[in-house]
Amino acid sequence: MNLDQAITLARKLLAGEADFNKLEVPLMQEAYDVLAANHSPEARFTNAIDAVAADVHRANVEKGFFADRDSNHANDLIAMLGLIMREASEAMESVREPGAPPMSDKIPDFTNEEEELADTIIRCLDYCDFRQLRIGAAISAKRAFNKTRPHKHGKRA
Ligand SMILES: [Mg+2]
Repeated sequence: MNLDQAITLARKLLAGEADFNKLEVPLMQEAYDVLAANHSPEARFTNAIDAVAADVHRANVEKGFFADRDSNHANDLIAMLGLIMREASEAMESVREPGAPPMSDKIPDFTNEEEELADTIIRCLDYCDFRQLRIGAAISAKRAFNKTRPHKHGKRA
């Protein structure tokens, strides 16, 4: 049973559309286990980031950005990774000058720094879904690993 099936079952039970007494205990236990496993903040983050990645990529496919890209062709991947680095460079440029932070002209309620970091993350998510990478789980796994590392990861500076 996947998460969507467990949620559907729970909704039917809550709406009175499924007979609680007729459902077999193992089925209810399975649904409970799936829901519990997906309820932690970490699991919700993983599911959400993967869902946003899929939505970002779907939108870019619809805009025509992937008509001639191959998810297994190194040159296409390198070009996309270069664009991620360019957005991060634009964020770096946005904090270079002292004084009031420059504001975005595309999303005027936000600074350039916020916009360029958003661009960086959006491009990362697009890339991850294009490559079918498990980015949500990878972030969780790496965060868990980082928590085990020593102070400053054993470095002096
Ligand atoms: Mg940008």
